Amino acid sequence: MKYINDVDIAGKRVFIRCDFNVPMDENGNITDDSRIKAALPTIQYAIDDKAKVILASHLGRPKGKRVEKYSLKPVAKRLSTLLGKDVVFIDDFESEEAKEILSNLKEGDVALLENLRFWEGEEKNSYDFAKKLLELFDVYVNDAFGVCHRKHASVFALPEIAKIAVGGFLLKKELDYFKKIFTIEEKPFVAVIGGAKVSGKLDCLINLLNKADKMIIGGAQAFTFLRAMGYKTGNSLVEEDLIDEAKRVMDEAKARGVKFYLPVDFVCSTSIEDTVDYRVVPYQEIPKGMMGLDIGPASIELFREVLRDAKVVVWNGPMGVFEVKAFANGTNKIAEIIGSLNALTVVGGGDTADAVERAGQSANMSYISTGGGASLKLLEGKTLPAVEVLEKKQ
Ligand code: AMP
Repeated sequence: MKYINDVDIAGKRVFIRCDFNVPMDENGNITDDSRIKAALPTIQYAIDDKAKVILASHLGRPKGKRVEKYSLKPVAKRLSTLLGKDVVFIDDFESEEAKEILSNLKEGDVALLENLRFWEGEEKNSYDFAKKLLELFDVYVNDAFGVCHRKHASVFALPEIAKIAVGGFLLKKELDYFKKIFTIEEKPFVAVIGGAKVSGKLDCLINLLNKADKMIIGGAQAFTFLRAMGYKTGNSLVEEDLIDEAKRVMDEAKARGVKFYLPVDFVCSTSIEDTVDYRVVPYQEIPKGMMGLDIGPASIELFREVLRDAKVVVWNGPMGVFEVKAFANGTNKIAEIIGSLNALTVVGGGDTADAVERAGQSANMSYISTGGGASLKLLEGKTLPAVEVLEKKQ
């Protein structure tokens, strides 16, 4: 697969599909700009190499309509500050005025198009929509790892019909880290998998059993496993229809010699809202009418021991309802433990990246992916459609 530094971009109009899907508060202020910062190396490279840079991204789910709160205008402003130069904001790339501005860009100039998802064609992978974008540039660059698992026009149809289509530096970094995880020889390899549902992570669990020496399960997933072992779990989140699958994962772990760890205690409450009357109980004693919302202190110590000699750690999914302070301790402590290791530590995007940031541990991880869904697909051992398009192109 080719990357931006493998092609000639000087003096050319270079379209860089970024992932600027950043969280914003109700006043339109960006609350975390790490995704914008992650795209800077490719953008700066294009500027330095005298390209005429046209940036594009999606933001949120406006469903093919103009929705002001999903406008990328605040991103243009932040980008301008981070790059130390003007970023021209293009409200409607189809208008004559916009076409004129874009065709008159000078070398090193930067423009940002409005949210691509304001156009219906984006999520529908419309080739007509892609053709309209195609008129704007000479070289296509995909640096939007976070959407590479989706067949959307700007990452699928567009590179397919573009003459030159390559990856950006962020895409390269992401793909390299996930490749490294599956090729690295160092051991022990510990997979830490949490989050709400077994259903979304089943393929990931099965695939990681091929590589891991130890597997730690946290989050609400643990309760489906505990049920598979015959324990009562009160009102905790359980996927009844996956109890057999959970059993299969544990059997598979045993058959492959992968050490499998579940939490041994839980912080339980009657509901997520009840942050006062919570109780810590051993896993055998989850009371009727209560639900497990975080792992307890004994589990934290157990997982600390399990992780102590780790050389490679892959972490996807929080240990509890980390969004609520009363149930965030387990996730925070696991973040601190993983952050303190002298190991290759790779964190899946989305919620886990957010949890690591909240725990103040981002700087202590080897790599934090910018893509939740895309990183999960790679952990499942699957390929990403948008990456396949670029590979076929070469
Ligand atoms: P996922 O997207 O599958 O990684 O799940 C992340 C979500 O799982 C977060 O929003 C957490 O609040 C939630 N979660 C983690 N542990 C629990 C639990 N014990 N009960 C309910 N939700 C949980």
